[in-house]
Amino acid sequence: MRRREWIRGVASAAVLLAATGCANGNKRSSNSNAPAEAKDAAPAANTLPDGVVSRQFGQAKVTWIRDNEPGQIRANQMFVGADSTQIARWAPDGGVPTATAAYLIEVEGKRILIDTANGRPESRLMPSLAALGIKPEAIDYIYITHFHGDHLGGMLKDGAPVFPNAQVYVSTPEYDAWMTSPALAERRAQAEATMKAYESRLHKFALGDTLPGGVVSMDAVGHTPGHVAYIIDKCLIGGDFVHGAALQLAHPELCARFDMDVPKSVESRKRLMAYAKENGMTLAGMHLPAPGFIEKW
Ligand SMILES: [Zn+2]
Repeated sequence: MRRREWIRGVASAAVLLAATGCANGNKRSSNSNAPAEAKDAAPAANTLPDGVVSRQFGQAKVTWIRDNEPGQIRANQMFVGADSTQIARWAPDGGVPTATAAYLIEVEGKRILIDTANGRPESRLMPSLAALGIKPEAIDYIYITHFHGDHLGGMLKDGAPVFPNAQVYVSTPEYDAWMTSPALAERRAQAEATMKAYESRLHKFALGDTLPGGVVSMDAVGHTPGHVAYIIDKCLIGGDFVHGAALQLAHPELCARFDMDVPKSVESRKRLMAYAKENGMTLAGMHLPAPGFIEKW
């Protein structure tokens, strides 16, 4: 019955298949999972590496690249105020299907990374880029959604820049908050080191500005003080607008514990979802489960 509720309640069939597959909590090997995920998520893209899904939006190709092994769930205790009925329906196995990902936009002959995921030894972003034939020096731009470690972490390795040619774009309110706010002082070191390492090619922008490649930045403040969503054609990449899509798309009033400003997070989540729906857009986000794109919710 839970599978049917998924169909009625939230997501596309692709998300359904992938998410229910993940929800059993099994940690399958990437090899054994590859055919199933490729088949479920993107029938036309079965030559892509495991954990990689591409979609075309106008002139832009957008590719979801999962950083972690499949099967990740976000514990239901992480969602503040969720009641037992909501948990029973949307997190029946103790958590909500999730993932950590970055997106690659290829447009106008340029390659743009939206975030860089964790940068841990086991991270899959770099191996997946290599499998796509993309070297780090071929990344032209990096647009950051916010300064948490699962988004910035892939920019440095052993303190040195991973992407030698990328121009880096960050929102001014996010930069200012992390560099100056006393509330973020204890968590500042990684952001500070990363910004310093890319200092000569760092660009700050105002929320709403259009960036190279025609990518439009959108105010998604709440999760962090300068949290950004990015729009390319009919794809809205919402950053950390949700951490457990099944639960939060049905109940956008619920926040994960990571959201720094709860009222603003709720407002941004509802606004992004409404904007995407009104404009016939596909939703993407750094913590969506496979296939990393949601057409219906
Ligand atoms: Zn995150």
